[in-house]
Amino acid sequence: MVALALILLALALAWPAPRLMARAHVFRRAPRAALFVWQCLTVSAILAALAAAPAVAPIVLFDGQTVQQHFMLLSLAVAVSGIMLGRLLIAGHQIGRRMRVLRHRHREVVDIIALDHDAHSRVRVLAHPDPTAYCLPGRQSRVVVSQGVIDAMSPLALQAVLLHEDAHLKARHDLLVEFFSVIHETVPAPLRSAAAMHEVRLLVEALADRAAVRRVGTDATRQALVALAGSRAPEAAMAAGVGSTAARIELLRFGSQPALSALMYAYAAGLLALPVALLALAWKAI
Ligand SMILES: [Zn+2]
Repeated sequence: MVALALILLALALAWPAPRLMARAHVFRRAPRAALFVWQCLTVSAILAALAAAPAVAPIVLFDGQTVQQHFMLLSLAVAVSGIMLGRLLIAGHQIGRRMRVLRHRHREVVDIIALDHDAHSRVRVLAHPDPTAYCLPGRQSRVVVSQGVIDAMSPLALQAVLLHEDAHLKARHDLLVEFFSVIHETVPAPLRSAAAMHEVRLLVEALADRAAVRRVGTDATRQALVALAGSRAPEAAMAAGVGSTAARIELLRFGSQPALSALMYAYAAGLLALPVALLALAWKAI
């Protein structure tokens, strides 16, 4: 039965698939395409779970005899879809709201305690000796750097930090991370993959690092990464020091990978087509 296949597909895409992909570091060489694959993988898993109930609809609507025979399976399909839809809506609401409240509060604090700043600039400097740099996304975005960053870095490395944060803000990487956080929370705890979430965060950082490399080069970006290694930032911010510094430095040497990216996009399309094809099959069989 197609509904059962959809439930099994959702399980496969939620459990082994992300764990295997997180281990396949080749994806890191093309971070933009890899993030698209991660999006398609997660959307496909959620779609498969949500499609279980619609997949049994033709049986319920057109075949009363079969409803009695497969009552347990039909109930399971409806329960899986219903629970996943509920969890998705709750996670979406809670995470989005929480992040916006935290960022708003933090932005207000930063604007008060920052050293003298140009009112037209979104960069704020904090009088703190530890190097830290992060951005607060949103309509009134801020790039926050500590005095420690300015003291420890060459002008070019400092520019790399600012370019990295600008890339996050311009591409709204926060929304991408929020999307994955919502899906992460939607998946029941025993199935969640922390490695997948870690990988997604690393890819987002690698994308922003690349934006810096394009403007100031690999050396300056590497210096910035080394100086910020292990730095801390508030929870709702996107920090420049996030992710394994060694992994990010390793990724700086890869340029664009058109062939690898094309393969990844094809793989992503295949992932997305699976639940749609199964649902179409369920309705075609009427
Ligand atoms: Zn970053």
